[in-house]
Amino acid sequence: MTPLATTSQKKAREEKLGSVVEGRLKTYDPGKDNTKTFVALLRKRMTRQIAASLVACVHCGRCAESCHYYLARSDDPTMIPVWKADQVRRVFKRHVDWTGRVIPGWVDAWTPVDDGDLNRLKDVVFGTCSACRRCTLNCPMGVDTALLIRFARGLLTELGIVPEGVFNVSRDQWETGNQMAVTEEDYGETLQWMKEELQAEMEDPTVDIPVDKPDCDFLYVINPREIKFDPRSIANAAKIFHVAGESWTLPKNGWDMTNFGLFSGDDSLGGWVAKNVYEAASRLRAKRMVISECGHGYRSTRWEGFNWAGVDQRLPIESVVVTLDRYLKEGRIKVDKAKNPEPVTFHDSCNIARSGGITEEPRRVLSRVCADFREMVPNRTENYCCTGGGGLLSMPEYRPLRLEAAKIKAEQLRATGAKLVCTMCHNCVDGLSDVIKHYKLDMKVVQVLDLVSRGIPR
Ligand code: SF4
Ligand code: SF4
Repeated sequence: MTPLATTSQKKAREEKLGSVVEGRLKTYDPGKDNTKTFVALLRKRMTRQIAASLVACVHCGRCAESCHYYLARSDDPTMIPVWKADQVRRVFKRHVDWTGRVIPGWVDAWTPVDDGDLNRLKDVVFGTCSACRRCTLNCPMGVDTALLIRFARGLLTELGIVPEGVFNVSRDQWETGNQMAVTEEDYGETLQWMKEELQAEMEDPTVDIPVDKPDCDFLYVINPREIKFDPRSIANAAKIFHVAGESWTLPKNGWDMTNFGLFSGDDSLGGWVAKNVYEAASRLRAKRMVISECGHGYRSTRWEGFNWAGVDQRLPIESVVVTLDRYLKEGRIKVDKAKNPEPVTFHDSCNIARSGGITEEPRRVLSRVCADFREMVPNRTENYCCTGGGGLLSMPEYRPLRLEAAKIKAEQLRATGAKLVCTMCHNCVDGLSDVIKHYKLDMKVVQVLDLVSRGIPR
């Protein structure tokens, strides 16, 4: 396997390999008192933001109806967001908050006593929450339950008490610089293949998929799933950029903007991956960064990565859908609705809409390129998760519950009568495809780039 990292990235990785990756591989130690380490980490990593969400809850229960898990299993109190957060809150009460030290029984303070307790906590925070933040937006006290879930995931990740899939993907991202362990050869060959295909399709030998071109208007960073399973999405983007006369490039290193640190709660992985992307933009002197269609990649790179990495990141970053909206507004690309005649609905990705603030741009784009665009209900920041968020697609052990919890999503999709559901997130493509298959819906998943590319007349 050829590593994709630059020398400085390799050095950083080697340092991490010693202290972090190998640590992950062997930290889980049945002979060690992991509960003590868990409590020590909880105390050490406590921030004002986390403490505020831990103490602000008044146990009103209003978050219950926000959660797709509870909506599917309303007879099961363990599916209520506040119950899930309470599994962390009780330890906080016991070891940090004064109430738990003075009146532990009254406030239900608790401490894990063995690895069995930590494993049960793992099943709660990884297996019963997709970190969609729908309950967060609907809490009158502003309690961010998903933040508490991620916090607990990070503590368990540090101990190696994680689902195997989370462990494997994190290791791949540490070791190769991308979460699907795509090699440098595969990356280069796939881009070359797409370039040749596009040149033939557009009958234009000047169409390019540039790599490592300095001083471009923007650096385009992608999801490894595009290289591995959906290279056509890169070709679609390249076609549109070509028609718009754009100056752009992909980087040779630091091209993976997805970030498993968001899902595992590992800020050190999150910071390292985000920094690779920021460094690529700076090395190539790009004026902006454009993120392809990925929800958690957008959130990690645009909103969280610089905090995890502790860097002063000032380069403008936007989603490619914002770029497409601008092209249409400025008349840089022309589209024909007749090319997309099927009824289309739009699924707001949690990390794009609720946690990323982008709701109107995709709608403006779809209204221009689709003959029959229809909303699903609820939508925008109130939309339901595709059910594959929070890294759940990498945890097959929780799949039966995830698909059971997808009942509300399936009903929501079916009610639109649409034949296509469009989303601007590769993770949601897989999550929704699973729901469609499981609930036997007559529908296919597409992305915004697909529809815009298809809408461009020859
Ligand atoms: S998290 Fe918010 S909505 Fe849920 S019980 Fe606590 S205060 Fe109420
Ligand atoms: S973040 Fe989403 S999945 Fe998790 S408890 Fe809240 S509503 Fe449920």
